[in-house]
Amino acid sequence: MLVVMEHGASTADVDRVVAVVEEMGYEARPMPGAQRTAVGIVGNDGRVDASRIAALPGVVQIIHVTQPYKQVSREWRSEDTIVTIAPGVSFGGENVPIIAGPCSVESEEQIVESARLVKQAGGTALRGGAFKPRSSPYSFQGLGKRGLELLALARTETGLPIVTEAMDDEGAHLIAEMGDCIQIGARNMQNYSLLKTVGKLGTPVLLKRGMAATITDLLLSAEYILSEGNPHVILCERGVRSFDPSTRNLLDLTAIPIVHRLSHLPIVADPSHGTGLRDKVTPMARAALAAGADGLLVEMHPNPDRALSDGAQSLHPEQFATLVEELRAVAVAIGRRVTPAADSQYNQAARTLSSGTAGRVVGTH
Ligand code: PEP
Ligand code: MN
Repeated sequence: MLVVMEHGASTADVDRVVAVVEEMGYEARPMPGAQRTAVGIVGNDGRVDASRIAALPGVVQIIHVTQPYKQVSREWRSEDTIVTIAPGVSFGGENVPIIAGPCSVESEEQIVESARLVKQAGGTALRGGAFKPRSSPYSFQGLGKRGLELLALARTETGLPIVTEAMDDEGAHLIAEMGDCIQIGARNMQNYSLLKTVGKLGTPVLLKRGMAATITDLLLSAEYILSEGNPHVILCERGVRSFDPSTRNLLDLTAIPIVHRLSHLPIVADPSHGTGLRDKVTPMARAALAAGADGLLVEMHPNPDRALSDGAQSLHPEQFATLVEELRAVAVAIGRRVTPAADSQYNQAARTLSSGTAGRVVGTH
């Protein structure tokens, strides 16, 4: 439930509402807005008797949130939420960041080279898994903590912020310390204890849709993170399982405008896992941006034929560079802008760091 205060409501009015809500045994979350303050009520599993609150001074309206998810809903917050993962890199506004890099971190040379290529092409953030959820226990499982260290090195070299997956609490804590955004993979979308952990950590989270999850399931999983106090959640459409083996998954682009209507959270698209096929990634990336995606997550490898995971869906560096150019044009057509890497303050730090080490930092765009 949401208690909307009058435009001119005083702090004392808001405090009184909070006190009454708490007296009733619920938790109150005051949310000052540009126009007026609202007080969210959480901890209720059903309809709250609002008559006592409605009569308090300064209260203008009581909104009963009808969706099963509360804090992620548009009813709860009408303005778009903007999630910033690093200075200058934000999801949900006019700017559209492009997160790119290999499926897995494989070696220092591979990840640093990937980061340079991403930046050179105009990408905004670096992806790469250190902890890999593989269908087979015999497949490459990732470099673990060493992989995170290599990502941090690639960030120092290029200034690109890091998005990387956590599969358990320990990994989440390590990424909170060393990375910029914790990815929760499709297989863990309903790992509720992990969702609570990242909710408590407060680090930005990229939450992928499970392969058999409905949009409501996805939003309820995001609710777990927000309800623990972390509002920095970016949703990700990465395709769902379908009956048709022509593609690895079925990239559900309709989910993008649906989520935008139901929730204030940003949503990005992952056409790499969404299709599983290199030559389908570019057209679906363009389509996702046109459909309103607030960012893209794309797999690119310096040498996809030698990738230790997901080589078949990873773009060649030159394909990625062409894609970024095309995405720039699509963004302009819909009144948006692909975030230039130069907007990142990490980037400025990287430039300062590398002055004197000629040739180490790639040019800006
Ligand atoms: C990945 O991003 O490499 C990954 C494992 O994605 P998903 O969880 O969507 O399968
Ligand atoms: Mn992958």
